[in-house]
Order: sequence, then structure tokens, then C-alpha cells
Amino acid sequence: MEQSNVYDLIVVGSGAAGLSAAIYAGRYKMKTLVFGDSFGGYTTIAGPIGNYPGYIEVDGFDLMMKMKEQAEALGAQIKDDKVVGVARPDSCFLVTTERGDAYHATAVIFATGSEHRRLGLPNEEALTARGVHYCATCDGPVYGGKTIAMVGGGDSSVKGVNLTAEYAKKIYLITREREIRAEPINQEQMEKLVEAGKVEIILENEVAEIVGTEHLEKVMLRLPFNGSTELVVDGLFIEIGATPRSNLAKDLGVTLDERGYISVTPMMITNMPGVFAAGDITPLFGGFKQDITAAAMGAVAATSAYQYYKIHGNLCASAT
Ligand SMILES: Cc1cc2nc3c(=O)[nH]c(=O)nc-3n(C[C@H](O)[C@H](O)[C@H](O)COP(=O)(O)OP(=O)(O)OC[C@H]3O[C@@H](n4cnc5c(N)ncnc54)[C@H](O)[C@@H]3O)c2cc1C
Repeated sequence: MEQSNVYDLIVVGSGAAGLSAAIYAGRYKMKTLVFGDSFGGYTTIAGPIGNYPGYIEVDGFDLMMKMKEQAEALGAQIKDDKVVGVARPDSCFLVTTERGDAYHATAVIFATGSEHRRLGLPNEEALTARGVHYCATCDGPVYGGKTIAMVGGGDSSVKGVNLTAEYAKKIYLITREREIRAEPINQEQMEKLVEAGKVEIILENEVAEIVGTEHLEKVMLRLPFNGSTELVVDGLFIEIGATPRSNLAKDLGVTLDERGYISVTPMMITNMPGVFAAGDITPLFGGFKQDITAAAMGAVAATSAYQYYKIHGNLCASAT
């Protein structure tokens, strides 16, 4: 076994949870490797963040760059590569990547987060990036002076409305729910836009059809709004939550909950010895998905991985 590919800890995921785990593991002097197929995770597209302690406001991408710098300063290696398999042929874990490389580790932390949920409508995939979008921060600026619809009744969609209001002429917020449930500070900001006539909220309704050939032309609503089910918009942003990226953990034999999140103890320990999980991929803290909770879980997962490492030593070294 090539020693350069042997680590004490491999973290799958370079978002807030994974990088926080790497910072703590670095301070525990563990030889740590972090993989991320999209550096920084969701935080990089979150736009301005005003609730991360220590910053009045910080851009999400900048926050993740700071975490990366800190993790690297403490000795962690960070690779932009997708993990395609985690196996345990013996007491040591084998991690394989899309680039065809293989790595070994005594402990593994899954910090793989989640991915945007889709509406599941015909045409949705064909018109993705042609009027249909999943990231208001990334794609909102394209809609300067245009009319858009934002789907979802939670904090992400309300943040999306507030962000795109800087560019768009008119925004419709569509939700199946009876009311919007967002952080009060974000909701207050949106209410000012509603008062100004820039935003209209369509409650207890949903997008039934996405219409367009080369580009989105309009959406059809399930129920009439202002007398019509047709809503002509230039862009449709879908912010309806996320699905856990837990396939790798599942294939390894890690227990998931009924919604597909990795089941953990409050110390971020899974059912499988040597495997830990942190961040949005777990249902901990009642599923309160934030950078501060992800970072906290990463810190705890690294601490548990270190306890495991202290008890067992380098399980891969003995396999060489
Ligand atoms: C629009 C938006 C706005 C938000 N605003 C805020 C806010 O203002 N304040 C706040 O605190 N939180 C905010 N959040 C939530 C916050 O971004 C998340 O809670 C946080 O990103 C969770 O971190 P995580 O590390 O658990 O997961 P993620 O950030 O999702 O990171 C997961 C990582 O795992 C990687 N990964 C997954 N599978 C693999 C694989 N097979 N191989 C390699 N890498 C893999 C991904 O590439 C990524 O790097 C916002 C989220 C969104 C979407």
C-alpha cells in the first residue's frame, strides 16, 4: 500500500461540516484528507450570510475560503474530486474517486450534505438553465428587469426573493403552504418588497406545468391566480428543499433514517465503527440546516474520530 495514500481520517465533503471537521482533526494532529466535488458546498451559493458568529455579514464563498485556509494551515489536504465508493475490505477503509484514485483511512466522516429537490415535472430537466434554475444567487443576476417566479415557502426561497429583487422587475413567490415560514429578518425584508408591489405571494397553489421549447415561456398553476392559471414568467427558481446525498454511506452499510439522512448519536457516531457523519446529511438538531450547526457537527465528528483513532491506532498502517 502506497503510504502517501494512507490517512488517519478521510472526510467526504468540503462544505462547512467537512472543513470544520478538518480543522479539528488538524488540531488533533490526524493526517486528514478532505474530498469535495463542489468546493465549499451550499454556502458558496448562499450569498451574504448574516448569522455566522464573528461576522456582521460575510459572503458565503469568502467564509468557505477562510475555513479552507484554516484547515490547510493545520495540515489537512483538500482535493477537488468526487468520491465514488467507500468500502471496508478489512479494518481499514478504502475510498475510491472519480479520477480513478484509491485512498485508505482508519476513520471516515461523511459530510456530503444534500442536493436541490426538483419539482419532477415534464420539461423541468430540458429547460434547466434555460429559464429553470435552482440557485437564485448564481442565476438571479441574469434576470435584470425581468419577471420571475420563485417556488417554495421556506427560508431559502424567501432569501432567493430578496436576492433576486435586486435585479428582477417582478417576482411571484409560489408555495403549497398556507403561510411562509422563513427567518423573521428575511421575511420582514420580503414584506417590504410586497408592500412596494415588487413581490406577490401566491399561497396554497403550485406549478403544475412548465411550458417552453428552447427557453421557459410560462408556467401553468394548479389553481387560478388573479383569474388565470397561466403565469407568464422569464425565469423559474425552485427552492423546495433538498435530498440527502447519502448513497455512499448506504452502500457501505451505514444506517439511514426513514428520510434517507444518516442516523447518528449526539457525538456524530453512526452504527458502523470508524464511520461518523456531520452537517446537513444528518437529522440532528431537528434538521436545522445552517452553517453554524454544520460546523458544530463537524467539530464533534472529528473529536469522535480522534477518540476512535486513539483507541485503535492506525488500522491502515498495520495492513501494509
Ligand atoms: C440558498 C441558500 C442560502 C443559505 N443561507 C444560509 C445562511 O444565511 N446562513 C446559514 O447559516 N446557512 C445558510 N444556508 C444553509 C447552509 O449553506 C448549509 O446548512 C450548509 O452548507 C451545510 O453544510 P454541509 O457541509 O453539511 O453541506 P454542504 O454545504 O451541502 O456540503 C456538502 C459537500 O459534500 C460534497 N460531496 C457530496 N457528495 C460527495 C462525493 N460523493 N464526493 C465528494 N464530495 C461530495 C459536496 O460537493 C459539498 O462540498 C443556505 C443554504 C442555501 C441553499
